[in-house]
Formats: sequence, structure tokens, C-alpha cells
Amino acid sequence: MLIIFGARAVHLHTELKENLTCPSCESKGFIEINIYRKHAHVFWIPLFPFFKSGYAQCQKCNYDFDLDDGGLPDPYEIEYDNVRANAKGPKWQFAGLTLILGLIAYANYASSETEALEKLYIESPEIGDIYEYKPELEDGYSTMKVVNVKKDSVFVNLNLYITNKISGIYEIEKSENYSNDIYSFSKEEIEFMHEENQIIAIERN
Ligand SMILES: [Zn+2]
Repeated sequence: MLIIFGARAVHLHTELKENLTCPSCESKGFIEINIYRKHAHVFWIPLFPFFKSGYAQCQKCNYDFDLDDGGLPDPYEIEYDNVRANAKGPKWQFAGLTLILGLIAYANYASSETEALEKLYIESPEIGDIYEYKPELEDGYSTMKVVNVKKDSVFVNLNLYITNKISGIYEIEKSENYSNDIYSFSKEEIEFMHEENQIIAIERN
């Protein structure tokens, strides 16, 4: 995939400084300080901004020079700092970063919701619950289906098929794939298997 990544500079702010003298034509009061801020973008979506940069331009003779190269006369250093502090960058330069942080926060929220729900399913099993699990002696994933629940016990049918990828579970999770043999577990055993990540997910319709 082609990822189009780049940087773009946005003009933030300009101030005319009465006290600065042009190094070229030596006129006073014609120097404008211009502040820019670059941001990184991917597919033209701004991700996050970099530091601010600036240049000075004489409005009389048009001479201009970079303010980030160092070695500036003191009055320029001071005014550059002032103008840079006055230059507020637009929030949209953070759009991509904000979006990414938002997605991470949402993913965290969604996974903690799923966790809470699964805890509830494990603590109060219902007929029809599907446990996705890792069979102890086989390398892969399979399912068991809850067919009965008594006070302290859960009764299941085992899926006769195993898939080597977790994403393949939906292909084997069919009613005709289950054996009619009934196995029982105590609720404690089921909770333990969930804690040990042997039962990796619970589906309930
Ligand atoms: Zn000048």
C-alpha cells in the first residue's frame, strides 16, 4: 500500500515590529515577523504539529531571512520569542493524533466492556452459550455449547472440529458439528478455564 506521508507548513501569525532595524537597508520600523508551524500528514490528514518556525521580512526593501538559524542580534531574538508566543496554532493540526488517541480510548473501553460481559456470562451460564476454547491436547481452537445448567454445573456438547486459526471459528461453529455426548464441568472449573485463558471467548445470542 502506498502511504502518502508528508509535512506542510501553516502560516500562524505576523507582527510588524516598530523597534527592529533592517540589516539590509537599515530602515527602522519595517520588519515583519512571520510565524509558521509545520504538521505531519498522512493522506492529507494532519497528524500532529512540529515546533514553530519563523522568518523576518523588511516591508521596505523586501529583504528576508530565517529566524531559526541562530546568531540573531538581541532585539531580534527577543521579538522573535514574543511573536512566537503570541502565535497560537490551530487545533486541527492535531486532528490525526486526536483521532488516534480517541480510537485507542474507544478500543480500551470496548475491550473492558467485553471483559465485563464475559465475566457475567461465565458467572451465570445459560443454555446456548458458546465457549471458544483451546483444547488441551490439540493445537488449535474449538467450541463447546452449553446444553444444560444446574446449580453448580454446566453441561456441554463438544464441537468435533478444530480450527488452527481463531478467525476460523465461525466456519466450524455449526450445530451439525457438535457431538451429542454430554460433558459436565463445575462452574468453578469453567471460571478457572476462563481465567487461564483456555476459554478465550463466550458468545451469547
Ligand atoms: Zn530593508
